[in-house]
Amino acid sequence: MPSRFQPTLTETAVTETDLAAGWQQFAECAHYAGEVDFFPARGESLRDAKAVCTVCPVKNECLEFALRLKVAHGVWGGLSERERRSLRRERHRAEPRSGLRTSQRTTPPSQHA
Ligand code: SF4
Repeated sequence: MPSRFQPTLTETAVTETDLAAGWQQFAECAHYAGEVDFFPARGESLRDAKAVCTVCPVKNECLEFALRLKVAHGVWGGLSERERRSLRRERHRAEPRSGLRTSQRTTPPSQHA
C-alpha cells in the first residue's frame, strides 16, 4: 500500500513547502493504519476512509495537497479520485481565461465604442 504522504506524482514535484508544512502530523488517518484502506481497489467501498476524513483536522490541507500534486489514487481530503478530478475541472472552469485583458472580460460588447 502506498504511503499516505508519498503519493505517485503525475506532473508536479513535491515542493519544499509541502515537506515543511507539518500538517501531516495531525492526519487522522495515521490512527487507522492497517484498519482503514485509503487506497481501495476499484469497486471497493470508500465509506470508511471518508468517515475518517470527516473528522480530520487537516482535511482542507490534505485536499489541497492532493489537488495541487494531482494525486491520482486514493482518498484525500475526504474525496475520491473521481471527486477530485471533478473539483479540479470545476475550479479550472471558474478561473478567468488567460490571454484576455480585464476590460475584455468585464465590458459587455454593447458598451464598446
Ligand atoms: S483528510 Fe483524510 S486522508 Fe487526509 S489527512 Fe485527514 S484523514 Fe488522512
